[in-house]
Amino acid sequence: MKFIFGGVRGTSPVAQADFLKYGGETTSVLIEGRGGEQLVIDAGTGLRALGGRLAAGAAGAEVLLLMTHYHLDHIMGLPSFALLYNKAWTVEIAAPRRAAFEPREVVRSILAKPFWPIQLDQLHARLKLTTLPAAAGAVRRHHGLEIRWCAVQHPEGCHAYRVDEPATGAAVVFATDLEWRGSTEAEKRDFLALCSQPRPAQLLVMDGQFCRANIAKFKGWGHSAWEDDVEVAQQAGVRELLVTHHAPQSPDAQLDEVARAARRLWSGAALAQAGMEVTLNG
Ligand SMILES: [Zn+2]
Ligand SMILES: [Zn+2]
Repeated sequence: MKFIFGGVRGTSPVAQADFLKYGGETTSVLIEGRGGEQLVIDAGTGLRALGGRLAAGAAGAEVLLLMTHYHLDHIMGLPSFALLYNKAWTVEIAAPRRAAFEPREVVRSILAKPFWPIQLDQLHARLKLTTLPAAAGAVRRHHGLEIRWCAVQHPEGCHAYRVDEPATGAAVVFATDLEWRGSTEAEKRDFLALCSQPRPAQLLVMDGQFCRANIAKFKGWGHSAWEDDVEVAQQAGVRELLVTHHAPQSPDAQLDEVARAARRLWSGAALAQAGMEVTLNG
């Protein structure tokens, strides 16, 4: 199983020259299964680059797009996702119900005037809009991949996803937009269980937009300090942590400093960069 970062920026895309090492595109990641499965999480502006990779591949004209939540930085890449306009493709957009919102109504309201000139019924791809069950312990299968999820602490709600590939034992947890310090004990327990059961995931990708020195100022904004991510990763027994959802005010030099500090704290920690690919073998 391969995990590919299309975009790692939080809140807003950035394009200045000193932001390009980590990348300015907002959150969108791709998981490629050994059997050719294609699974995308979130539709930030990083989806554009991933769409090019999907279209160029010969793995099959079907993609499952999971949404963590619908804040603009996670959905602004959707209207220009090229595969929606390609009749050879089937695009399934899926998420559990969150607050009162389901994928069908959210996607219909974004692909609508005055926000976008092309409407939902004018897309060329075969579009499926799926509401996943909210129940704890639910599993969605996507060919050879198994997907689990849990709700995490964030304004308007958000879900973290775990993707397992039973054939290889590979597993990753993707947890963007999560305020660890503001989480209830039940939310913390559920999230640690997602990371560690039935066995610890090899890779945890987690929101670490802030640091312990400044996070008190951002209480209630829905994000974590990267030092908290390290504690969570160690507690859950994962092998590797990639911190994501970098602040749009943080240029490369600043993120390099965070990356050095994170590695000093734990050798398994690093910062996610757009374009990065991680191969997981279980
Ligand atoms: Zn975000
Ligand atoms: Zn958010």
